[in-house]
Amino acid sequence: MTAAPAPASVAPDPGAADRACARLSIDLGAIADNWRRLRDRVAPAECAAVVKADAYGLGCARVAPALVRAGARTLFVAQPDEALALRRTLDALDPPTAEIALLSGVWPDLAPVLTEARITPVLNHLGELATWQAHARARGRALRAYVHLDTGMNRLGLGPDEQAVLAAEPGRLDGIALAGWLSHFACADEAGHPMTAAQHAAFTDLLARLPPAPASLANSSGIFRDRAFHLDLVRPGIALYGGNPTPERANPMAPVVTLQGRVLQRRAVDSGMAVGYGATHRVQQSGVLATIGIGYADGYLRALSSVGTVATDRFGPAPGRIAPVVGRVSMDLIVADVTGWPAAACGPGSFVEVIGPDRPIDRVAGEAGTISYEILTNLGRRYHRRWLDDVRTGAG
Ligand SMILES: *Cc1c(COP(=O)(O)O)cnc(C)c1O
Repeated sequence: MTAAPAPASVAPDPGAADRACARLSIDLGAIADNWRRLRDRVAPAECAAVVKADAYGLGCARVAPALVRAGARTLFVAQPDEALALRRTLDALDPPTAEIALLSGVWPDLAPVLTEARITPVLNHLGELATWQAHARARGRALRAYVHLDTGMNRLGLGPDEQAVLAAEPGRLDGIALAGWLSHFACADEAGHPMTAAQHAAFTDLLARLPPAPASLANSSGIFRDRAFHLDLVRPGIALYGGNPTPERANPMAPVVTLQGRVLQRRAVDSGMAVGYGATHRVQQSGVLATIGIGYADGYLRALSSVGTVATDRFGPAPGRIAPVVGRVSMDLIVADVTGWPAAACGPGSFVEVIGPDRPIDRVAGEAGTISYEILTNLGRRYHRRWLDDVRTGAG
């Protein structure tokens, strides 16, 4: 039995929050609520949880136990070392625990590592079926695996030719205990995109020609497009972490992440003055700037130069005000035009909201010309991180 991984915040350092130039809080209770909301929406289908890329940057060692306590029974990761780390996390929990499914597939050297750690691979091509089958034969028992069928994304999964071979030669599944058939939507985030229904039709046609097993197609957005897409198992990721799975409508999910940056300096400026590297911003009329201790080294993308926005602290003296980021994002700093904000909301030592209920991740992503997924998975390592407990009675 391996020891539990130490959560990043475990070393007691009461001064850390006071020293931090930026602080990130991750609401595990909101993640659990989001999972339960999806579970209720898709029942009787099973609701899995995707925790790849360190649970979308939020800390898999903290997020996965919260999801398992909420009831998740299948967790998907992308890479072998993510699966091994998750195995250590889950082994430290009281049973019942969850299955770990690995999207990367399997290769010969990896097969014994996966069986040893009780990790279920998703097999993506016929070569992987053969690898897993040979490994099962060597072990003398059937081994569990999902099989990924490509339905038009041309990324991972058996393509049409391999699907035809498999339908004609089901013996290629001998020795494989089929956990389920998977496919993945390319365009589910765009309401009414014809490719989504076409992929669903292609997938159900394929399933009719293949041995029966549970079927899984929908990611977060797919869950909201059509009940027919739920099939037996859904695989939400971003919706658990507060991203909007229906970008054309209000976000049905609860916000999870709050990122606050510390104001390091506040200065009065006159028209014509320049701000930041490249002097790309010129002050138009006299006003007030606040310099905030967060930059591109923290995942505050440089693409937010002169287009990002920050908000006043929601619990401070002037909640709900917005200020534009002016000039280029530096490695460790941004500058916001806080003209008109009360001094108490933007003096040195105050915090501004960079991501949170007043600056939702989808809006920040839109300002940066990217998606919420990239904002979350880039969240930096220098933040003071705090995980709000999913079990409200537990020590936080
Ligand atoms: C990342 C991923 C998901 C989760 O997608 P979201 O859009 O974050 O819900 C589901 N299935 C597969 C195969 C993935 O790679």
